[in-house]
Amino acid sequence: FLPLVALVGRPNVGKSSLFNRLAGSRKAIVDPTPGVTRDRHYEKITWNDRRFILVDTGGLESDTTTEINRLIQEQTSQAVAEADVVLFLLDGREGILPDDQEVVEILRRSGKKVFYLINKIDAPEQAAKLLPTFYELGVEELWPVSAEHGQGIGDLLDRVAAEL
Ligand code: GDP
Ligand code: MG
Repeated sequence: FLPLVALVGRPNVGKSSLFNRLAGSRKAIVDPTPGVTRDRHYEKITWNDRRFILVDTGGLESDTTTEINRLIQEQTSQAVAEADVVLFLLDGREGILPDDQEVVEILRRSGKKVFYLINKIDAPEQAAKLLPTFYELGVEELWPVSAEHGQGIGDLLDRVAAEL
């Protein structure tokens, strides 16, 4: 009965990379091709003496945009419904895409505690350049992180753990 923290976001934003970093092992498949994570992965995490289950969502495999869209929505809705806290990832280098907006709507309707992560901010100086466009989401707090290099992850986990 540990709390669930779900990683959600459209394919290729870096969910599995972040999962792997937090899990400290290579449990999820990371691939440059969108949609290669085949199913959900769960890992027990301990941070600041709080324990929780981290859930990596994925499994989106399709070649039509409409189909991907529908799958993202279904899968996200399910993961969010089960979650106590949601980590929503966006790609700092891509900006806000229509598929991101779909997920944002699901998150708003859910009423869950959501952390908005802007991933792929690999160096501090990139934050000033890449973050501003994401304030269009109307979210007060954005978390610049780099799943690949680890920036911002410790501060984020401090706050996530405090929510549990
Ligand atoms: P998922 O589909 O959301 O699970 O995304 P993945 O974790 O599979 O990552 C998709 C691609 O983004 C891979 O090529 C990763 O190497 C890359 N990626 C993930 N995190 C970062 C990051 O922090 N910085 C950079 N530069 N690339 C990243
Ligand atoms: Mg994945």
